[in-house]
Amino acid sequence: MDMLKAVDPDVYDAIVHEEERQRDDLELIASENYTSVAVMEAVGSVLTNKYAEGLPGKRYYGGCQFVDRAEQLAIDRAKSLFGAAHVNAQPHSGATANQAVFFAALEIGDKVLAMDLAQGGHLTHGMRLNYSGRWYPTISYGLDPKSERIDYDAIVRLAREHKPKLILAGASAYPRIIDFARIADAAREVGAVFMVDMAHIAGLVAGGEHPSPVPLADFVTTTTHKTLRGPRGGIAMCTQAWAKKLDSAVFPGLQGGPLMHVIAGKAVCLGEALRPEFKAYAAQVIANARTLAEKLMSAGFRLVSNGTDNHLILIDVTSKGLTGKVAETALGRAGITVNKNLVPFDQRKPMDPSGVRMGTPALTTRGMKEVAIEQVAAWIVRVLAAPEDEVLASRVQREIAEFACGYPVPTDAAQPSVLPLGF
Ligand SMILES: *Cc1c(COP(=O)(O)O)cnc(C)c1O
Repeated sequence: MDMLKAVDPDVYDAIVHEEERQRDDLELIASENYTSVAVMEAVGSVLTNKYAEGLPGKRYYGGCQFVDRAEQLAIDRAKSLFGAAHVNAQPHSGATANQAVFFAALEIGDKVLAMDLAQGGHLTHGMRLNYSGRWYPTISYGLDPKSERIDYDAIVRLAREHKPKLILAGASAYPRIIDFARIADAAREVGAVFMVDMAHIAGLVAGGEHPSPVPLADFVTTTTHKTLRGPRGGIAMCTQAWAKKLDSAVFPGLQGGPLMHVIAGKAVCLGEALRPEFKAYAAQVIANARTLAEKLMSAGFRLVSNGTDNHLILIDVTSKGLTGKVAETALGRAGITVNKNLVPFDQRKPMDPSGVRMGTPALTTRGMKEVAIEQVAAWIVRVLAAPEDEVLASRVQREIAEFACGYPVPTDAAQPSVLPLGF
């Protein structure tokens, strides 16, 4: 980045420090990952200069012949990766992809049945302050208090009682497999549109490690930057019947010019996810999460639902006399990045909840396997046993920085490889 360094040393400095942070710390935020250098090259390319309102072959601007190729690759690869009938690769983010589906399928005031944010849902699934909650009356479903798994019977009951126009499945903090078929049945029974937001698990679905919602749902949305390991962005998919409405909801409904550089990055990540190595990556993400869960539970931490089937765990740190905020701060000091999170039926407030969420997608991209994850778990246990001990925190931080050197991030590679090191 010689040019950036010369032209704008302040921005350059911020980026260099962030790069160091990403290299030296252990990234356990469940929604984050490291993209390949190839993805970053696409996103950092001249495609950022191009206006391309419309769709490949049907644009409102001239000179689109090459960006058309990039976008068509993204569309075709998403179709073949997920088996979708129709793909729109333009949503700027996961939130925008969701908004596009609501805009395509609903009128303002139509009822939606979706998972409660406080029990693992997402803010775009009807939270009071989000457009979804403001414009679409939302009925929430949640977890069974005993098993802490989705209460599917309650979904059926609420669907019959409220007759929602749309039923939404998908979550941001749910550590178990979601039975999309059962929710699809509930939607079919009451004639509701069935939408799945697979933002967190798209990479696991792509790798065959989570049942796919695509054959069951009218609409499937995702982000591309979580387990799918691509650039920050969204994708919306649907059955052929909804194709026109979805496309026109994205543009001109919600967006102007698409971000062609990001769409090219999406094409690259989808191409990577189509390779056999990505299947191994997805399987390792899950094996690593299971190892982390087992080690923390055997150290006496209570995990929501007693474990995990996917890439994330939710730890109730009050089981150790801590709060989520205290745990996040203590771990952060030691170079372990996590986020505090509500646990189901939490009595505490979102700014200082009872839980911490952790996920293994990023560490797995660095090539960590079970043995490395056991070491990571041991550090977590040590730090949380003495959360106020700053001497211990800085000792652990030094150990972690040295350990992390053994697991290079993609930008460390001497030869920019197509896939990040490790996978
Ligand atoms: C992350 C996430 C989103 C939103 O993605 P953004 O790109 O941050 O807008 C939407 N839905 C779910 C379930 C998510 O986890």
